[in-house]
Amino acid sequence: MNDTDYIPIAALNQYAYCPHRCWRMFCAAEFIDNQYTIEGTSLHDRVHTTGEGHREETWQIRAIWLKSERYQLIGKSDLIESESGQLYPVEYKRGRKGEWDNDELQVCAQALCLEEMTGQIIPQGFIYYAHSHQRQLVEISDALREDAIATIQSITTLFQTGIIPPAIYSKRCKGCSLYSQCLPQLAEKVRRYQEC
Ligand code: SF4
Repeated sequence: MNDTDYIPIAALNQYAYCPHRCWRMFCAAEFIDNQYTIEGTSLHDRVHTTGEGHREETWQIRAIWLKSERYQLIGKSDLIESESGQLYPVEYKRGRKGEWDNDELQVCAQALCLEEMTGQIIPQGFIYYAHSHQRQLVEISDALREDAIATIQSITTLFQTGIIPPAIYSKRCKGCSLYSQCLPQLAEKVRRYQEC
């Protein structure tokens, strides 16, 4: 990684889910689909049709690129809306709200980019969950901003050093498309054996 490289906004989501997965995807360029990732890709293919319009009083624009020089972030938004002049990002996700806060970090990163691009403070965003057809409000609080910035710093270090974070078996591994590549339980056994 050098000064002209940018961190994909989606990497925040992956890093918060599992740093080892983030390394595999963005440093080792490994990716394998499973049912969840195929559904997610197909949802984003549908929403990533560039276009602008109105839904009642709300102005909407889809699939525009967001960028921050300050945080060296880049990524394509699903949807940006504006109500009474206030902009906010809407991130589309398959399924229902998960147990993890990685989706909120991704919305916060989009808000940081929007703030830099427009000069407007972005106090909130939304996650639209396709399975439940519901929007979840994401408050872009100071705590969430700090989390997002700390995650960006961790990813910058990961990209600069390329040091592989350990594969640690957890509940998250169950739905991970990289499970068969990673074999975290086996990796853990080997690690424990080497420590003996
Ligand atoms: S299987 Fe588990 S440890 Fe391995 S990349 Fe996926 S979430 Fe991370």
